Amino acid sequence: MKKLLFPLLFLSASSFAQSQLRPQIDQGADAIESKVIEWRRDFHQHPELGNKEFRTAKIVADHLRSLGMEVTEQVAVTGVVGVLKGGKPGPMVALRADMDALPVTERNDLPFKSVNTATYNGQETGVMHACGHDSHVAILMGVAEVLAGMKDQLEGSVKFIFQPAEEGIYEPGVTSFGAKQMVEEGVMKDVDAIFGLHIWAQLEAGKVGYRSGPFLAAVDNLDVTITGTQAHGASPWSSVDPIVTASQAIMGLQTILSRSVNITQNPAVVTVGAIHGGIRHNIIPEKVELIGTIRTFGDEQQALVHRRITEIITNIAESAGAKADVNIGKLYPSTVNDPDLTSKAIPSMVAAAGEGNVVVMDPVTGAEDFSFFQREKPGFFIMLGGMKQGLDPAKVPSHHTPDFHIEEDGFKLGVRTLSYFVVDYMGMKK
Ligand SMILES: [Zn+2]
Ligand SMILES: [Zn+2]
Repeated sequence: MKKLLFPLLFLSASSFAQSQLRPQIDQGADAIESKVIEWRRDFHQHPELGNKEFRTAKIVADHLRSLGMEVTEQVAVTGVVGVLKGGKPGPMVALRADMDALPVTERNDLPFKSVNTATYNGQETGVMHACGHDSHVAILMGVAEVLAGMKDQLEGSVKFIFQPAEEGIYEPGVTSFGAKQMVEEGVMKDVDAIFGLHIWAQLEAGKVGYRSGPFLAAVDNLDVTITGTQAHGASPWSSVDPIVTASQAIMGLQTILSRSVNITQNPAVVTVGAIHGGIRHNIIPEKVELIGTIRTFGDEQQALVHRRITEIITNIAESAGAKADVNIGKLYPSTVNDPDLTSKAIPSMVAAAGEGNVVVMDPVTGAEDFSFFQREKPGFFIMLGGMKQGLDPAKVPSHHTPDFHIEEDGFKLGVRTLSYFVVDYMGMKK
């Protein structure tokens, strides 16, 4: 028993010592707020698509260098990594922001409205920070400046990861994700834990939201071809009809969530988004193609849902005398918050936001490639409120839309929360 008690006492004592940095962080966050807002507006006006964040990356790299950090550029194409060496030994804590914008034409009437356009998959389009990554970059630049101001007192080092292409690159023959590529290039090797946030348009500014365990979904693509036998539409008995077979298969997929998934644990989604087949009233075609998206929470559920999709489609096709080719393309894994790290991080969020402003959120069926970092080392990902207080979350424009809007008065809380995570984690690790 004695052996157990000593480390516990030691841990709690060291964590108190670290919290002495919090007032300094608060002062720093107050002082930097207007700069963070200014940076965000500049990024908002000059958004760049994934793997093309050249201007953004240069501003970030120059800023980190001006703070005395070791900076590496062109990590995973346009990524920037800065390391702030603390004055005392301790862990390497990583913080991450994503830098990319989306092919969306902004409809907001703002003095810093996006001016950029681009060609995306052969189409002319506006470019917009319609997911709020402009605020992530600005907030993390603010954190870098605040923590650099107290680097002699830091018991460990901080790795600032500015990643490209969180929204993914989907070009003919190329599918890639910024975080995945950064991991492949070794960015997580010397990291002990990683923290990140996403501004959230449906959560009031001044609040932070989190969830322990699976938080955001894994996203996988479904591609199916059902092949039958072509015939005259007037004599269906001489066909193997892929349209009827595809219809049965789609209905069969509905039983995965109602009969195979334990709905008391985590939700899941199987959506067929398109059916392609046939050309004329009176021709039963040879082939039908289905495409869809699969959202699951955690590796175990993902494996179950993938297996049931394949079994249902293959066996329904076989029963009709048709052949099914089922392909599931894995994109992002589920964003899973390490339960131990989550429980240790809760006091930091409560101290930063106030007890009533820390909310446990429902699982989000969208995805985040932060999950690739979390597969390497324990990671904690939170949502930062970006909605005007008093609005109905169901009625505000959602992420990825032309009217997407973010309130800037929650940014300071983002700076404080990420900074608290760093110093509190260092305190616990001592
Ligand atoms: Zn997004
Ligand atoms: Zn996003």
